Amino acid sequence: MQTQTPKSESQDLAPKAQKMPLIWHNILFMTLVPLVAVIFTPLYLMNHGLTWGMVAFLAITYTISNMMITTGYHRYFSHRTYSVHPVIEWLYIFVGAGSFQGSVLAWSTDHRRHHLEVDSHDDPYSRSKGFWYAHFWWLFREDAHPKAKAFPKDLTKSKAIMFQHNYYPLVATFVGFVIPGLIGLACGFGFWGGVLIGGFLRITLSQHSTFLINSAAHTWGTRPYTDTNTARDSFILAFLTFGEGYHNFHHFFQADYRNGIRWYQWDPTKWTIEAMASLGLASKLKKARREEIFKARFAMEEKHVLEQLARGQHAPSFAERAAALKVRINETQTKLRHLHDDYLLAKKNFKAEWAEKRKQMSHDVREAMRAQFAKAKQSRKAEIRVVSIEFKSAYSQWRSLRKDIRRAA
Ligand SMILES: [Zn+2]
Ligand SMILES: [Zn+2]
Repeated sequence: MQTQTPKSESQDLAPKAQKMPLIWHNILFMTLVPLVAVIFTPLYLMNHGLTWGMVAFLAITYTISNMMITTGYHRYFSHRTYSVHPVIEWLYIFVGAGSFQGSVLAWSTDHRRHHLEVDSHDDPYSRSKGFWYAHFWWLFREDAHPKAKAFPKDLTKSKAIMFQHNYYPLVATFVGFVIPGLIGLACGFGFWGGVLIGGFLRITLSQHSTFLINSAAHTWGTRPYTDTNTARDSFILAFLTFGEGYHNFHHFFQADYRNGIRWYQWDPTKWTIEAMASLGLASKLKKARREEIFKARFAMEEKHVLEQLARGQHAPSFAERAAALKVRINETQTKLRHLHDDYLLAKKNFKAEWAEKRKQMSHDVREAMRAQFAKAKQSRKAEIRVVSIEFKSAYSQWRSLRKDIRRAA
């Protein structure tokens, strides 16, 4: 695990950032809301006692609040990693406003720039300017970047997004404070109990959970896919942020709807998108190719191996074995990619031919055509299986070599 803060860059960048005027409504909101939550929640609990209903209310509103940001603002509007039913889009826009993280338009514009300019001066929440700057201080000063001119057209053409943007304080206050108050009234916590738990307390927790992505997920964790930026992967952060903590993967494969790609990685945002897809509410879920993901991961592993070999007094056989295994791994990966591509192309051609000629063909010709394709499919799958075994064997040897190198260091 490495932590890096480019200090010299930070010193260069700080004076420029400080010249911009302060945004007092953000400063007051982000100071007073937590203050009210911290002071009045204990007082409220002393008078009313803590009930499971209150805990559930906080948990539900907190989850909705965060998921609107992660599934909606982030993976849908900012990265367009999937398509969604208009009703869900509307929910993202209007319920998402209650998370008090700004309009869809402002949030996504900033976030796209974060990916484009990561860690540089033009990154709106650049980690290079310090942990707390990336966490939320960036919100306290005007942005030097002419944001309005950079508003993406795919967002500005939506009337709902523009309505949310133009009437943001009203929409956010209604969804973020008034509705929790009304629910509180209906559930027996009282209007102000609802406003306190589902509004002030929930907003404080939810905001800082999201902010961790810009600060902590650019500070602590591993970098399995790239070390060209400060983004990290961390299970703890993923757990705290509904799956967004696999941030190193996300920065390298930002068009992928997943952040945690393994079945065991905690990514409730991915599971929600998949659940929506199974219900027909989401579609066109984008995934990076498995080979591309492996390529990025393997390049980082190779880099570490070479660094370790360069540092230590290793036997020359280590370097030779590493080079030979790299060739085998790359060859099998290339073969697998071609076999997969050929198989997909054959499948597509068969489908097209079938659709075009099916009605003109006799039953026997149809069956013969089907049998021929099934046979070709079987033999291609067998080839893929053989090459997969070769690849797995080479990669397993590579992993044990890495262990040997580490032990010998
Ligand atoms: Zn980031
Ligand atoms: Zn992103």
